[in-house]
Amino acid sequence: MNRNQFIKTSIFGTLAFSIVSNFSFISIQEMYTRDQLIGKGNPDIIGDTYTSKMQKDTKVAFQKMKNEAAKEGVNIEVVSAYRSFEKQKQIFENKYRQFISEGLSPTDAITKIIEYSTIPGTSRHHWGTDIDIIDANAPRPESVLEEEHFYGDGPYCKLKEWLNEHSEKFGFYEVYTNNPERKGFKYEPWHFSYAPVSKPMLQEYKKLDILKVFQEEKILGNEYFTSDFIENYRSQNILNINPELL
Ligand SMILES: [Zn+2]
Repeated sequence: MNRNQFIKTSIFGTLAFSIVSNFSFISIQEMYTRDQLIGKGNPDIIGDTYTSKMQKDTKVAFQKMKNEAAKEGVNIEVVSAYRSFEKQKQIFENKYRQFISEGLSPTDAITKIIEYSTIPGTSRHHWGTDIDIIDANAPRPESVLEEEHFYGDGPYCKLKEWLNEHSEKFGFYEVYTNNPERKGFKYEPWHFSYAPVSKPMLQEYKKLDILKVFQEEKILGNEYFTSDFIENYRSQNILNINPELL
């Protein structure tokens, strides 16, 4: 290669690199807006009911997994999929009002709520990539999402065994695992996440100032969220999950 050719090639290379890197920067920025990350409007959500609304790629992958499971007599049923910010706000604020009326302090009320529920704007269900699933072919217990149903001779053992063996092939990973070292939300053997989409979403989500979101959205009790509380919630409830999803 002579000098001129070398210069042309390197200029072209640099130019191409900068176009590609700018392009991916822009597309990530545009792919996940603040509102999309907190469940306030996402053009990629398809479906029309509480249990069928999902992010579009998640839905395609879910359907493939469901079809495969059906061949072995497992009828995967979604009990919760995409959940909007407004819906989560209702759940959170109803509990908050109830606990305050029972005499709890605002801080104790918030601590009690987050044993089982998320603060609006922080649920992975806002992304449309996460689903709670059971087996529609099994006898249906009164309350379906209980750990005991997924083990021993519980009705959802067959589903759980099938998922342990196959779900990751379809991109679905358990989020809140049974690791005793894990803090934050309790073990949820029914909650799965579509990693190819939820992983990049989490990376974008980590850049959000969640306290600012709580304040901007005027979530009931937001004046009691201290910076220590937010730091713990972020490291334990949001990030202390299956490492495969980080
Ligand atoms: Zn869930």
